[in-house]
Amino acid sequence: MEKLTAEEIINSANVKQPELTSHFSQVITSHDLTHSYLFCGEPGSGKMAVAMEVTMALFCLNVKDGRPCGKCNECMRIASHQHPDVVIVEPDGNSIKIDQVRMLKAEFSKSAVEGNQKAFIIYGADKMTTEAANSLLKFIEEPVGNVVSFLLTDNKALILPTIISRTQLVEFPSLPPAVFISELEQLGVNATQFNLIQSLTNNIATVKQWQENDWLSKIQQVISQWFLQLNKHSPIAFTMVQTDIMPLVNNRDGQRIVLDMLIEVWRDVLDVKFNAITDDDLKFPQISAQIHQIAFKIPKQQLLAIIELMLKNNGDLALNINFQNILEATTLRSLNILE
Ligand SMILES: [Zn+2]
Repeated sequence: MEKLTAEEIINSANVKQPELTSHFSQVITSHDLTHSYLFCGEPGSGKMAVAMEVTMALFCLNVKDGRPCGKCNECMRIASHQHPDVVIVEPDGNSIKIDQVRMLKAEFSKSAVEGNQKAFIIYGADKMTTEAANSLLKFIEEPVGNVVSFLLTDNKALILPTIISRTQLVEFPSLPPAVFISELEQLGVNATQFNLIQSLTNNIATVKQWQENDWLSKIQQVISQWFLQLNKHSPIAFTMVQTDIMPLVNNRDGQRIVLDMLIEVWRDVLDVKFNAITDDDLKFPQISAQIHQIAFKIPKQQLLAIIELMLKNNGDLALNINFQNILEATTLRSLNILE
């Protein structure tokens, strides 16, 4: 886990989740903190930062309006995972095992080392084995002393219902658009890709994966080429499915993204044709000139028929129809419509 300074953690929590951090500062001021929370939200939505900030506020020597200072010894020791009364549990490999929960419980059965307060954070709580989760359950129900716990998960569906019912659920909203854009900039994403990315996801961790080996740029370029060949009524569009698109797509997520991109490139045409956007809003600005030409030429009925075709694809994928078949059939039908 990446270690940030206390001030960086607080800043990250406040920027990513301004409303939640403000809510928790009030809860802390009025001493209304519940003893167990379940934080759910996409990777990168700031769950760890918020859990750490709230924990710091419980120990900080200079709390102000329910907010930690980020500068005192307590804040700094929590940030560096070295505070004796704050335990952070992470998956050991792919799971959180019962031994890790036992260690946590042993740690907490001693009276608080320095003061009265104790806190623990379980990162990746969905990765607890059933044994570990059941063992934790008893502990959550009958905590010894003044204990606050935070369970963090990207996927609430994988958390035992008995855990959900004994914790206070906090759903983390997606990042505010301006924050998302600034994270894209920090990742070094090309600004010409911002619109497309925003139409596909709100999850910075996903974008990080797409950036590996420049995957996003490659697939965007291939789909642009496919789109241009299609509009030349060229059968090359059909062969491109197997030779160019398929080699770049090796998982379900990639398949879904490709189908979404097909919708987005045609949506650009639609939006240009009906003057719904400026060039600054194009998802495929790299082929802006061609999109304008196509939008000008294509009859409205053809365009709508093609978009209807593209929109149907995700449903077909959900029905487990073979991805390559979907792409090839879509390409043939589009060529027919454009004839
Ligand atoms: Zn402090």
